[in-house]
Amino acid sequence: MFDMEQRMNTVALQIKPQDIFLFNARALKTPGIINMTVGEPNFATPEHIRQHTSTQLLQQTMHYTIPEGKPALTAAIANFLHDKYDLNYDPSSQIIATLGVTESVYTTLAAILNPGDEVIVPTPSFTIYGPDIILNQAKPVFVDTSKTNFRLDPAMLRATLQEHPRAKALILNYPNNPTGITYDKAQLQALAEVLQEYAIFVISDEIYSELSYAHKHVSFATLLPEQTILLNGLSKSHAMTGWRVGYICGPQKVIAHILHVHELITTSIPEVTQDAAIEALTNGQDDTHTMSVQYQKRRDILYNGLQQLGFKVAKPQGAFYIFAKIPAQLTQDDVKLAEDLIAKEKLALLPGSFFGIGGAGYLRISYAASLENIKITLTKLQHYLVENGVE
Ligand code: PLP
Repeated sequence: MFDMEQRMNTVALQIKPQDIFLFNARALKTPGIINMTVGEPNFATPEHIRQHTSTQLLQQTMHYTIPEGKPALTAAIANFLHDKYDLNYDPSSQIIATLGVTESVYTTLAAILNPGDEVIVPTPSFTIYGPDIILNQAKPVFVDTSKTNFRLDPAMLRATLQEHPRAKALILNYPNNPTGITYDKAQLQALAEVLQEYAIFVISDEIYSELSYAHKHVSFATLLPEQTILLNGLSKSHAMTGWRVGYICGPQKVIAHILHVHELITTSIPEVTQDAAIEALTNGQDDTHTMSVQYQKRRDILYNGLQQLGFKVAKPQGAFYIFAKIPAQLTQDDVKLAEDLIAKEKLALLPGSFFGIGGAGYLRISYAASLENIKITLTKLQHYLVENGVE
């Protein structure tokens, strides 16, 4: 009776987050599987946050709050961003707390896009950007970064902007999922110089900002504040994926529009998770440090091991993913290879092509996993390579 197929097929277009869920589900159904696909910290939410939240739950009933979040929360976000990244946002008019960065992306796009607009997305990229753009009746313009070390190159950006006068926004994400690359200040500055010549927003998804290993994270909002809509959240920094807290910051006028959409969609995020976020951002500013040290240790073991096995890998500079080029001697495509690894080695890795143009021929391995599982992964890969005649 209702024709929803066509809409869903349109939305699915090229990048399909649901593939990842199907893949994960298949992997998880395989007994004894080593699952290296998961994009969430394998650490518990720090205890002080859980303690504080349970006390809050016993002491007060939870209600709707103002849509952007309680003043104490937007103030905590402003302070955190000031202390960490030298940003200066007015908590009463430039910050909105959202249901994770997942909501931040959708709500931002819904607020700024008109039908037929275009949005530039460097790929390989996090999987929700394309479908979210299409859901909002706009068109993604994917820019393949696989030939430029997975970084958006300023000349490439300029050419894309010239070719696409309807581009309303660029979505940047660094440290990056799925490649682990990040940008230093000079590289960001070079992009900002191009972008400031155009009437275009930069939606900067900096959810992995606390997991930057090569150098201190530089927020794009410090370089181009009038054009940047900054997205960040607590899922990765405080191992709080299940609490669903993200936030959007930007120029007052844009934030007012985005707030309207956010209110239509959510009213406000749950008060209980707002309380948890206040505690995390206020008393847990150093919470990521111990996790970050662990991630770097795991990264090094995985990176060195993969290189010894003949995978070409750019050393990840942030987040907790490694994007490994499949050795040429293995002839299957990345999807077939990933399926074969589940079937024969009980090892689940994600095919690079799930992350869009430029991802084919790679595997994404999450090192938000135990050291033991990282070592088992390397052993399984070695076994697979030997079985398939690759020395
Ligand atoms: N942005 C990127 C680049 C991500 O990798 C993820 C989650 O993996 C998200 C956003 C969504 O995070 P959240 O849990 O805040 O919705």
